[in-house]
Amino acid sequence: MFKFLPIASKPSRQNSAVIFLWRGAITALLLLLSGCSHNPGFIQVDQQYQSANRNDRVRFVVIHYTAGNWQQSLAVLTKPGKRPVSSHYLIPGSGDPTYPADRPLKVYQLVPEQQRAWHAGDSRWEDRTGLNDHSIGIELVNESWCEKQPNQLQQQAELCVAADFDPAQLQLLLALLKDILARNTDISPTRVLGHSDIVPLRKQDPGSRFPWQWLAANGVGAWYDAAVMQKYWQQVPALPEIKTVQRALQLYGYGIAITGEHDAQSRAYLLAFQRHFVPEQLTGEPDLKTIAVLWALLEKYFPKALQQESSLQLLTPSAAVAITPAWFTQI
Ligand SMILES: [Zn+2]
Repeated sequence: MFKFLPIASKPSRQNSAVIFLWRGAITALLLLLSGCSHNPGFIQVDQQYQSANRNDRVRFVVIHYTAGNWQQSLAVLTKPGKRPVSSHYLIPGSGDPTYPADRPLKVYQLVPEQQRAWHAGDSRWEDRTGLNDHSIGIELVNESWCEKQPNQLQQQAELCVAADFDPAQLQLLLALLKDILARNTDISPTRVLGHSDIVPLRKQDPGSRFPWQWLAANGVGAWYDAAVMQKYWQQVPALPEIKTVQRALQLYGYGIAITGEHDAQSRAYLLAFQRHFVPEQLTGEPDLKTIAVLWALLEKYFPKALQQESSLQLLTPSAAVAITPAWFTQI
């Protein structure tokens, strides 16, 4: 765009002045242009007034399985495609013949944490939707898979094959999660999530074999206290109405709608909850154990909110301040 005047090897005094003027003009122009292109550091910013009203942009961690081997997973998560997807981190597993034999198992970062990775899709947790905006995504190489295709008998049941997670891979995941949580203090235990927790109608990963309890025992994510769960298991006199179960799931963070019907979304959300917390009971039904686990989790992580909602009081019909639930008067 700019034409530079040829500079003589031995410039005269007059030529030197011209060259000086040109250099000055070009420098000023470059500074102007760099200001237009938002060059950081060009605009002086005064930071002496800092607002207390803020939080972190990242609030959740979402864990996935890739449903493929290392090579397939890496290709899908890094190359352009019709439905491009990605994650911030990818962790391979031991014994994968497609993983370079001479390379140790390690954590791979595919997208910087400051940028959005495309792993969550149309998702919801608490009051947030579109969790790509608010989360860090971690993919574990694992060949589990699910499908909903009808078979010859026209059964609509979901077929899932779940592969165990590699212990070495899980150790890498644990170290990574601890690092992420130390840097992102808004990620509370109930915000360490599986993909199926935030997209229960379409996603099953990381599946019922994922060791959430082990993770929580190592200081990452949520789990219930066994004694509190047992208290509900022994003392709940009747199963709550489905709208109460829906409200309890919603209070915990699930994006379920309160319809009062045990409809398809209700089953999908209960199944997602069971995959995470009651993996031996994958029914999608509000059975007593599932209820006991859900209420034990609410008592542990949301005690005030649980106390404030009279419809969620399953065990305190005789307490002075408690309102007797409708189901209690019916038995
Ligand atoms: Zn996923």
